[in-house]
Amino acid sequence: METTYSNCPACKSKIGSGLFSGHSLADEKLVPFINEFSKYKHPAFCSNCQFSALDEAKKNWNAELRSIRTDLEQLIKIIPIVTIHTPVNWQYETLGIVTGQTTTGTGVFSEVASSFTDFFGGQSGAYNEKLKNGEDLCMAQLRIKCLELGGNAIVGADIDYSEVGGGKGMLMVCMAGTAVRITNSNILGEEKHKAFETIQQQLTRRTYLQNFASFNKIIV
Ligand SMILES: [Zn+2]
Repeated sequence: METTYSNCPACKSKIGSGLFSGHSLADEKLVPFINEFSKYKHPAFCSNCQFSALDEAKKNWNAELRSIRTDLEQLIKIIPIVTIHTPVNWQYETLGIVTGQTTTGTGVFSEVASSFTDFFGGQSGAYNEKLKNGEDLCMAQLRIKCLELGGNAIVGADIDYSEVGGGKGMLMVCMAGTAVRITNSNILGEEKHKAFETIQQQLTRRTYLQNFASFNKIIV
């Protein structure tokens, strides 16, 4: 049953039914979202006050999602990626294959050529840095896909490098592994065990935020 208001419960503006007589009530789909994510807690809002309230709710919603993202970017580095299949004492269930691919920009090999002295002398700065970036990106992809499958570790990881782009000097890094869920993650130590729990909480919260907005058809 719809409640009728003569004044807006939030800003007390007069609610009118005619086109030019007072304000109209805001779409009720907006109300739970505003109540959840802004400081305004009211059973209804009106055309006078809904915009500032909705704006604040959207800002808070976005800020929280951004902060979760930043946290996760750091936290997921704790997800182990190992080349062996059966690390000692791990109990795990197998979830599926995960892959990552990155291609660096052009010019890797010309940079390599120009730093050959450097290369044979020891390390090529440019080459190593691009490899490292490629590897880091691949590992991030593996970890994200692992999380999407509900996993917390990657076993049997394998890495490949190849030149692509028809002599344009592009370098491709490919990684593949098997996502698993370690069921006795306490054996990895208290710190990792706790980080896994935090990751799960953050993921749950992220899903909650996203579903809340989409269920109420809020464009954020
Ligand atoms: Zn109002």
